[in-house]
Amino acid sequence: SRLHEHAELYLLLSMITPVPWLERNPTYKEQQQELTTKDLSTYGFLGYPVLMASDILIYKAEYVPVGIDQVPHLELTREIARRFNHLYSEVFVIPEALLTEFPKVPGTDGRKMSKSYGNAVYLSDSSEQVTAKIRPMVTDPARVRRRDPGNPDVCPVFDLHKIFTPKVERDTIIDPGCRTAGIGCLDCKGVLLQHMLPVLRPIYDRRQELATRPEIVQEVLEDGYTRAKKVAGETLSEVKAAMEI
Ligand code: SF4
Repeated sequence: SRLHEHAELYLLLSMITPVPWLERNPTYKEQQQELTTKDLSTYGFLGYPVLMASDILIYKAEYVPVGIDQVPHLELTREIARRFNHLYSEVFVIPEALLTEFPKVPGTDGRKMSKSYGNAVYLSDSSEQVTAKIRPMVTDPARVRRRDPGNPDVCPVFDLHKIFTPKVERDTIIDPGCRTAGIGCLDCKGVLLQHMLPVLRPIYDRRQELATRPEIVQEVLEDGYTRAKKVAGETLSEVKAAMEI
């Protein structure tokens, strides 16, 4: 937000972005349905994907690492870039999505993981906090009693197993154990935590260490700011020249 170039490009791109492109954005519709306690009928919320487009296009990114739920945003970014290039001149690179091996991470309530939904496990969470979030996590809703067989294909805990638990253990213990009621959901979550915590703990420790040395964080931010400012300024100049403003 220190780089005003993003806000400027956002304004300019919003002049060429048709409103129906924004209204059909699935996240816009989904969050309006899910976050009923917030007033989301504002221009800021509707136009937010244009700001995201500006954040990407200003650096002429060729690839953008995103979760699968962000692909529609990236598609909108591509459409805006194409439209600008067509109307003015070829300033923008058309970026492509770079999906990870695990393009979707479920939240603890089974919906997509999102800070807005209050269902996220944070990299800043301690092992105790992660455990406290995973233990009551939503599972296959049809598995009511311990003796009921479950279906890992519809269980968000199993989606996390796909990320953290080795395939062989998943295929030979978790999947069949769930389907035959051989293991209970609490045991299953215990296995998940055994694999999840060793991955998250070093990240948490590193974060804690950095929190005690804010000068290093500040240095990294300053360095990033200087490099970003140069690129963002150059792109914005090209945009203004193309638009003759
Ligand atoms: S056993 Fe595991 S995969 Fe099966 S429903 Fe319970 S938590 Fe989900």
